[in-house]
Amino acid sequence: MSKVEGQIVEDEELDAEAEARRRLALAQIRQYPDAALKMTARAVEAFDDDLRDLVERMKRLMREAHGIGLAAPQVGVLQRIFVFTPRKDVVAAVVNPVIVEQSKETDVADEGCLSIQGVLVPIERPVRITLEGKDENGADVRFELDDIFARAAQHEADHLDGVLIIDKTTPDARREALSILRPRIVIT
Ligand SMILES: [Zn+2]
Repeated sequence: MSKVEGQIVEDEELDAEAEARRRLALAQIRQYPDAALKMTARAVEAFDDDLRDLVERMKRLMREAHGIGLAAPQVGVLQRIFVFTPRKDVVAAVVNPVIVEQSKETDVADEGCLSIQGVLVPIERPVRITLEGKDENGADVRFELDDIFARAAQHEADHLDGVLIIDKTTPDARREALSILRPRIVIT
């Protein structure tokens, strides 16, 4: 695993059916420059069946899109919820997440985003974090994360504040990414 969220996590070739599912999933995920991606999400107050249905849908879309994280604004829901991979082969939901600790040590790695396809940009982030919040049933959850798992959680937490990878990368990488994205904006 090397790339965050938007990229194929493992290097296997997708068969035709999986590729079709991936495209259908991506079609249900808001794409840059959709306005929902720039907005700040609100705290969740009701842990009800609607929330659990949303979480199930997000987990399915994340898996089918071959991402390692997905935040609610990416499906047009402005609530503080994301799903992500806290360790290999596990998918968890975090509601009202808060990063309560982060390491001073940082590293830089390329990140993609399911909402900004075709772009990979370098981003510096703390290597280790502690994340607290609730699960979809309202129970307290706490994750101690490092490496790509910490990176994925920070990426998703940024989505809840309307912050995208192109906002956090270097000026040069941002310029290059926007030059890739700009023709698409004209077409759509
Ligand atoms: Zn993203």
